[in-house]
Amino acid sequence: MKVAIFEGKEQIVIKDGVKPEIKSDEVLIQVKKVAICGSDVGSYESGGPYLPGKIIGHEFSGILVEIGEDVKKLKEGMKVTVNPQIPCYECYYCLHDQENMCKLQNFAYGTTENGAMREFINVKAERIHVLPDNVTYEEGATVEPLSVAVYAVQQSGFQLGQNAAVIGAGPIGLMIIQVLRSAGANKIYVLEPVESKQKIAMDLGADKAFLPKAWNKIVRLTDRLGPDHVYDCVGLSSTFTTALQLIKKGGNITLIGLHASTIEVNNILLMTTNNISVRGVYGYNQDIYKTAINLYAQKKIRVDPMITNRIRLEQVPEIFKVLGNPPHDELKVIVDFE
Ligand SMILES: [Zn+2]
Ligand SMILES: [Zn+2]
Repeated sequence: MKVAIFEGKEQIVIKDGVKPEIKSDEVLIQVKKVAICGSDVGSYESGGPYLPGKIIGHEFSGILVEIGEDVKKLKEGMKVTVNPQIPCYECYYCLHDQENMCKLQNFAYGTTENGAMREFINVKAERIHVLPDNVTYEEGATVEPLSVAVYAVQQSGFQLGQNAAVIGAGPIGLMIIQVLRSAGANKIYVLEPVESKQKIAMDLGADKAFLPKAWNKIVRLTDRLGPDHVYDCVGLSSTFTTALQLIKKGGNITLIGLHASTIEVNNILLMTTNNISVRGVYGYNQDIYKTAINLYAQKKIRVDPMITNRIRLEQVPEIFKVLGNPPHDELKVIVDFE
């Protein structure tokens, strides 16, 4: 069995691994599809926070092929995806259904535990989500990023009929556009430098897409008020500054893509003078995961236009060289095990 291992900065290697054994509370999944995440690329570029030596892959789907003796309700042959977080189940946040804020926040399959870029993976049964028949393996493998988008929109307080701007039409931005559409957005505007991504954003429900420097056009199109919500899916000094300039007075900025620990903001005074709320969001919980699966089952979300590459496991090191060198046209990359 071949496996893809993160070995540190700019090092993803294919090695031989062994088929895992399951514990009594675990199941064995035969992996069908694994999607590559922006956070996989982030760790590849910077060397962390993923642990070196671990098999990558936290966005995946597959079929149950072995069930631990203590596991109830799950059967061999079920089509499944996995919520990759591994919470402690004991801390204040876990006890309040906020496992995305667990003290073990970064513990997950594919980051601190071995992930799914291999033929078989063992996971705790409690992390399994069964997929309805009409949800594909590719949709199943992208429930995780969709959950990030669902949680972001839910936490932002978005309301039916409001206008929104999405900064960055990468996979998360494109998911947010579709979640906003299904949540009853009036107009959705996008700021994105890559033309091919602008087009996909429009195809997936955005009303208009502009180059980032043309943010002022969005203000003009919203009665010179600005959108009620801005979703920053990039997280740079420049995008946060744009969000502050763009947002309606009293509006809400939601930060999703923030990876930098320091950003410089020129016009921070606007936050007080314009009564702007800024909030960060991270991850999801089990209920959000179910909502994301339901959105796929109801055909509210399309992932197909976002998938730019379908590759084999052997091609994974090569694709990281492309993904780690932006700007590029690649969006969602699926590693195919079928
Ligand atoms: Zn992810
Ligand atoms: Zn916890």
